Amino acid sequence: MPVQTGGPSPGKRAHHTTLSTDRSIMATCDTCGNDYDKTFTITRGEQTGTFDSFECAIQATAPRCARCGCVIIGHGVEVSDESFCCANCARRSTSAPLTDSA
Ligand SMILES: [Zn+2]
Ligand SMILES: [Zn+2]
Repeated sequence: MPVQTGGPSPGKRAHHTTLSTDRSIMATCDTCGNDYDKTFTITRGEQTGTFDSFECAIQATAPRCARCGCVIIGHGVEVSDESFCCANCARRSTSAPLTDSA
């Protein structure tokens, strides 16, 4: 068994590049268009999407903070139909009496 010392970087792995001739089980990611056999669907409100990764699902379906624009992946803060990433953003935009618990 050969000993690997200083070989090519071990961290790099191919992903999402599975080649298959059976396309019947393939679905296409709504965000990036990747054909992938392990896609999943996410329904949020009226909106349903098919995605190959959580990153793509977040891109397409996660709400964005009404103040700073960052993607809200956690619970966030909702004030009068607007979503914010944290109490600080919500308070600065709406002057709602929120505490910094988020
Ligand atoms: Zn994708
Ligand atoms: Zn924010």
